[in-house]
Amino acid sequence: MIENLDCLFAYSNTAREVLPLFRTWYEDARRTPIWSKFNLIVTYALEIYITLDVQQSPFNVGLPITLEGFTIPNILELAKHYQLPWNLEIAEYLYHMLGRHPHLIRLTIEHFASQKNLDITNQNWQNILALYFKNSLHNDSIYRGYFSRWWNIISRHANLFDALGQLLNDPAVSIELPAMTAYNLEYLGLVSREGSTVMLRGELYRQYFQAQVAQLEQLLTNLNESSLQAAINHERLQQLEQENFELRSLAERDGLTNLYNRRSFDAIFAARWQAAQAEGQGLMLLLCDVDFFKRFNDTYGHDVGDEVLKKVAQVLLCVKNDFSDCAARYGGEEFVLLRLVKDPPEAIALAEKIRLDVAALDLSTLNNQKLSPPPKITISIGVVLYFPKLGQDRQAMFKKADEMLYKAKSNGRNQSCCHFQDSPKEVWI
Ligand code: GH3
Ligand code: MG
Ligand code: MG
Repeated sequence: MIENLDCLFAYSNTAREVLPLFRTWYEDARRTPIWSKFNLIVTYALEIYITLDVQQSPFNVGLPITLEGFTIPNILELAKHYQLPWNLEIAEYLYHMLGRHPHLIRLTIEHFASQKNLDITNQNWQNILALYFKNSLHNDSIYRGYFSRWWNIISRHANLFDALGQLLNDPAVSIELPAMTAYNLEYLGLVSREGSTVMLRGELYRQYFQAQVAQLEQLLTNLNESSLQAAINHERLQQLEQENFELRSLAERDGLTNLYNRRSFDAIFAARWQAAQAEGQGLMLLLCDVDFFKRFNDTYGHDVGDEVLKKVAQVLLCVKNDFSDCAARYGGEEFVLLRLVKDPPEAIALAEKIRLDVAALDLSTLNNQKLSPPPKITISIGVVLYFPKLGQDRQAMFKKADEMLYKAKSNGRNQSCCHFQDSPKEVWI
């Protein structure tokens, strides 16, 4: 006797080897005398749902005998066996709830036999049983293993799930289903079938699956709602981030050149000052001013002047090589650059590079206008290098840069005037 053959299906390779073996034995027994005494009886439960190659299945040979479920007299007999003095009405009720399922009926009878205080032989038996079955729908009931196995199978097969939906929704007791689906449901032991007309075997089945479907629908609704909400939130968040970014840019940047504006510069200057102080580093400040820019505007127009300011800003952005560098438009045609440097030569080299790059700007086409001869512009720079010390005021450094710029202008423009902290003399470049 081979029992629990269904366990084999979890091991598909083994199943593929073993099942044809049964079939071969069966075929041999029909043809070979020595095998003729071989009887193969395979018993299997209906609840197992497997798709098998018809040619290899051990279930489509020989004489299939389907064991019928319990009848009402069977139920009464089993109850009596457990010394439960049940009447016909109780047996009918159980039959109505559980169909003819022998195992579920036995479980129920055993349960009542073990609960001596649960007397259902009195007037109230219907209420007691109704309450008992209602409570049995929750997860730790004695039927759990069976129902959840069915539910697992059905919820994974769309055709079975749809059919179950129809069975639950249709007020008619029996409904017509596609032949294969009807056969599968019957095979699972869930329905009784006549042709392709099926009906659920028991009322408890209906109640259990109705609760499962409702739970699933609720879950899906929640999921849809929360994913919709998440999508809305995500989109709103992106929008807010974008708005925030734009607002921050507006607040931090200069609209024409996109360099930091004066307000941002003030804040960054304070931070760099502190950093340089804490780490004993040199902080360099360049204050640049376009020479004779009023005259330039007057000659070429304000719009062309704007283009020039953008080009000067590009020069500053190009020399900005470090995250801690800060290039800003301080006002009209004045720009600043902050950098942490180690010594005066580094500051001088940078100032000189900026001055020369501006002087070398190609201004032959500005604002889509060809300018001939191409104009030239220059800048004057006030350069200051400090090693900030405790108690020192950074505004003094800025004032010093302004002073140096003024000197560069006074001295003829297109040049830098540098002041290095603690050094009594300016350096001209
Ligand atoms: P200096 O060499 O002494 O700096 O002479 P300057 O003409 O550059 O200085 P002044 O302060 O007399 O003039 C600054 C000019 O800068 C006046 C103003 O029209 C121009 N300016 C300021 N902001 C802008 C701007 O955003 N766009 C344009 N095109 N011009 C500007
Ligand atoms: Mg100026
Ligand atoms: Mg100027």
